Amino acid sequence: MTASFSNLSLAEPLARAVAEMGYESMTPIQAQAIPVVLTGKDVMGAAQTGTGKTAAFSLPLLQRLLKHENTSTSPARHPVRALVLLPTRELADQVAQQIKMYAKYTQMRSAVVFGGMDMKPQTLELKKGVEILVATPGRLLDHIEAKNAVLNQVEYVVLDEADRMLDIGFLPDLQRILSFLPKQRTTLLFSATFSPEIKRLAGSYLQDPITIEVARPNETASTVEQRFYAAQDDDKRRVVKAVLNQRGIKQAFIFVNSKLGCGRLARSLEREGLKTAALHGDKSQDERLKALEAFKKGEVDLLVCTDVAARGLDIKDVPAVFNFDVPFNAEDYVHRIGRTGRAGASGLAVTLVSPSDMRLVADIEKLIKNKLEVETFPLEDARSSNNFGEGRRDERRPERREDRREERRPERGFERRREEEGDRRSSFRPAQVSRDPFFEKPYEAQDPALAQAGTASWEASPKATASRPGLSANIKPKRKVAALFKSAE
Ligand code: AMP
Repeated sequence: MTASFSNLSLAEPLARAVAEMGYESMTPIQAQAIPVVLTGKDVMGAAQTGTGKTAAFSLPLLQRLLKHENTSTSPARHPVRALVLLPTRELADQVAQQIKMYAKYTQMRSAVVFGGMDMKPQTLELKKGVEILVATPGRLLDHIEAKNAVLNQVEYVVLDEADRMLDIGFLPDLQRILSFLPKQRTTLLFSATFSPEIKRLAGSYLQDPITIEVARPNETASTVEQRFYAAQDDDKRRVVKAVLNQRGIKQAFIFVNSKLGCGRLARSLEREGLKTAALHGDKSQDERLKALEAFKKGEVDLLVCTDVAARGLDIKDVPAVFNFDVPFNAEDYVHRIGRTGRAGASGLAVTLVSPSDMRLVADIEKLIKNKLEVETFPLEDARSSNNFGEGRRDERRPERREDRREERRPERGFERRREEEGDRRSSFRPAQVSRDPFFEKPYEAQDPALAQAGTASWEASPKATASRPGLSANIKPKRKVAALFKSAE
């Protein structure tokens, strides 16, 4: 298997666009999926964002649609032929931007529709005719109901981040949308995980799909060093700071389980002199983009985020991810740590485990099928040598329980769905469309020797992890968890 784009015989306009993007070789998902999609077969692909999966489905899809290319100004000559569905506005925007770049030397038109934006400009674009429509499910249904989008000529449908869409509660919306599509079509489903629900979805809507897995379901990238440190709630910020210092890490994502906790932690870290911003679902699209810009420019070093807010942010080179709170949902762990060690870069994922979190850690173990060891982080004397004021500790204690309640409520079901999608059906709030250059940056090229061998560097790296998959070879577990917490008391 070769990893070069030149072997694909892509049409010249597509090959030119790829060359312009600076892609030298295919990523594993591209090498596997592109030839299959070119044959028109259904695909069930296990791949996370950051693996190059957008090009993996959009390049062959564009190639197959080129036969319809035309310069007519008549909307009737530009019906929707490919539909790409994503769970969040950020992801939709990011994928649409990539598709535009791959299609830039063709006559194929593409558009994106997602909630949180005025429907009018989207409507105008749709009415002019677009061949490739990228959308979040709720807003697409609005356009279908308003008769702005007609889907009876769709030849390709892509369900991207399908696990996320189900998790957010989009299944009924997806089912409705799929009912508007012709039965004769190609369906591509991409998901970071192949849960039983995803398999059921695939069973209902895919025909004899070819399964492509670049990483086994629920596997975490081998380039991510995963560490679990026992930490009482009061000590967590000190551990974060100590890890950053010890490793010389400048920038990191810090995940928390609640919007409330997100704001509070960001404020505390800010007070302690760390350049911090909070990213959660209550922030407007504009605020989120500003926070991201600031992070990218290095004006902000720590981005404290909730799962909802961070979903779909393809920011490369985040050297570290902290799970300040162990996620309630083990699959979120996989998603969270996928923010680091992306597309070949190495990364560090530190999870802070308090005694009450052990059940959640066990859930993660079960999901990623790896034994996890919780270590002690060697903090200097906790009470004397830290910069964290004693008084501030009390501030955190009561927040945990109420945060958890608060988090569970909006992050599930309808509200969460609307939050992700940015939809406000009754009152459309104009917001800025993301033109975030993060999303366009190609990742660093892999080691040429590995490229030659057709192997991705992140697949081939740390042999050492083989003995204990998912864990760094450097991890030397010290004591078992129960013992740790006993001694801490
Ligand atoms: P995706 O997983 O599709 O969101 O892609 C993640 C990032 O990788 C995007 O910024 C792409 O532009 C970039 N990318 C995709 N394919 C390649 C490739 N073959 N070589 C280098 N960068 C790529």
